[in-house]
Amino acid sequence: MVHDTWVGVDVGGTKVLAVRVSASGEVEASATRPMPGRTASEAAVEDAVVAAAHDVYADGPPTALGISAAGLVDSTGERYLFGAHLPWRDAPVRARIAERAGLAVVLDNDANCAAHAELAVGAARGIDSMVMITIGTGIGGALVLGGRVVRGAHGLAGEFGHMQVVPDGLACECGLSGCWEQYCSGRALERVTRVALGRHLDGPEVAAMASAGDEVARQAFASIGTWLGVGVAGLVSAFDPELVVVGGGVSAVGDLLLEPARAALLESLQGTAHRPVPSLVPARLGPEAGAVGAALLARDAGKL
Ligand SMILES: [Zn+2]
Repeated sequence: MVHDTWVGVDVGGTKVLAVRVSASGEVEASATRPMPGRTASEAAVEDAVVAAAHDVYADGPPTALGISAAGLVDSTGERYLFGAHLPWRDAPVRARIAERAGLAVVLDNDANCAAHAELAVGAARGIDSMVMITIGTGIGGALVLGGRVVRGAHGLAGEFGHMQVVPDGLACECGLSGCWEQYCSGRALERVTRVALGRHLDGPEVAAMASAGDEVARQAFASIGTWLGVGVAGLVSAFDPELVVVGGGVSAVGDLLLEPARAALLESLQGTAHRPVPSLVPARLGPEAGAVGAALLARDAGKL
């Protein structure tokens, strides 16, 4: 007998990643396709999503399909509003893909999907309130209170990367300046390293050097880790979560990033001797977190 499965597709700036998960959340298959690019047509991206989903079908179509997309998704999960790396603009993506794929579809922002995955099968199982930070090229975020992802009045909550941490600070791609992600992100890591070494290294190269003990690379991670802790302290002051989960590609170095962040969190938070300070822990799901979370959102859509 064919068992129930769900497919999640994560649409990022460079690739479209699909996973098929079982009812227990186990990943049974995965596949990637290139993202057609931000200058491609909206339909080309939808084709890539449906094709990637097909790549992980086994004996037949899944029970439902979840889409995780980098950028702004409206509060109803119907429309993709805006993202710097994807061509969709205020587009009814959920319904379009449901029609193309002939499946029930749910759509959410990638950080919300990652948070759902960590809650369901990852580092935040059994946790009622948490802040999720994903550090990649920039910073993504999600807030969970009362066991549910907080979406805000318009679906736009959790855009922590664009909180201003330095007045008149570094210019950000979003048009503002001094945004948190200018100081704590893969791009910030590359900038700090470039200033120290006088040459460009990409994030994975800096991570490899830091893991091998290179002092400049370790200091670069200490710099962005300290900014991570400073920003997290603000979020802890605002929301008092039980747990802070840090994911995204840059977090793969683990304690080289998280130890400076924990130290800065203690220094930047009010009254630490007299209050519980939440643990700052690595995400358990790696690069597939968004896709797995989308699949689990599709699984749970009827129950939420
Ligand atoms: Zn910004």
